Amino acid sequence: MRVIFIGPPGAGKGTQAEVISREKGIAHISTGDILRKNVVEQTDLGKAAREYMDAGKLVPDDIIIGMMEKRLGEKDCRKGFILDGFPRTVPQAEALEELLGRMGILLDAVILFQAPDEVVIRRLSGRRVCRSCGAIFNVRWKPPGEDDRCDKCGGDLYQRDDDREDVVKNRLDVYKRQTAPLIGYYREKGLLVEVDASRESAEVVADIISSVKGSQ
Ligand code: AMP
Repeated sequence: MRVIFIGPPGAGKGTQAEVISREKGIAHISTGDILRKNVVEQTDLGKAAREYMDAGKLVPDDIIIGMMEKRLGEKDCRKGFILDGFPRTVPQAEALEELLGRMGILLDAVILFQAPDEVVIRRLSGRRVCRSCGAIFNVRWKPPGEDDRCDKCGGDLYQRDDDREDVVKNRLDVYKRQTAPLIGYYREKGLLVEVDASRESAEVVADIISSVKGSQ
C-alpha cells in the first residue's frame, strides 16, 4: 500500500495513518512529526523550519523535498508507506512524482480527508500529543486514562503551539490556498479517493482500506 493522505489540519490524517500503518506493517511518514523532532533536537533543519511552523506557514519546498528524498530511500519504506502531510504544494507533488518515477514506484491512491471547518477547529483545540511516542489523544473523544499522561508509554502530553486558535485559522487558510489545488491535480491523474473524515476513526479506517485496491 503506497498512499498519500491529504486534507485540512485536524481531519484525522495522523490518527488514521497510525492505525493503518500498524495494521499493514507499512511506514507512516509524517512531515510534521519529522520537523517537530528536528525542532526539539535543534538540528539545522529544525532551526530553519521553526519560525514557519510557529506561524502556521509552510516550510519552503526545497527543505521539505530534500528531507523526503532522504526519508523515502530508507529501508522501512520498501513494503509500503503512508505520506501524511506531504505533498502540500503543487511543486512538492511534482518533485514527488519525479522521485517515485526514479525509484520505479507507483502510488495506489491519494486519500482526501473531508471535514468541515467547525469539525477540524473543534478537534485541533482538544488535541494532545505525547512528547515521548507521538501518540495522539483528544480531551473530548479519545481522552487519556490519566490527565496529561500517555496511555501507551506514560510520557507527558502537551498541546502543540500551532493548535492555538489564531494559528489554526492561519493553517486552514494556508491549506485552502496552497494545498487544496492538489485535489484537482490528483483527480486528473485518477488517483483521488474522497472519504468523509468527520465520522468515527474506525469507520474512516475501514473506508480507506476498502477503497485502496489490493489492500483489504
Ligand atoms: P502537520 O503536523 O502536518 O500539521 O505540520 C505542522 C507544520 O509543519 C505545518 O504547519 C508546516 O509548518 C510544517 N509542514 C509539515 N509538512 C509540510 C510540508 N509538506 N510542506 C511545508 N511545510 C510542512
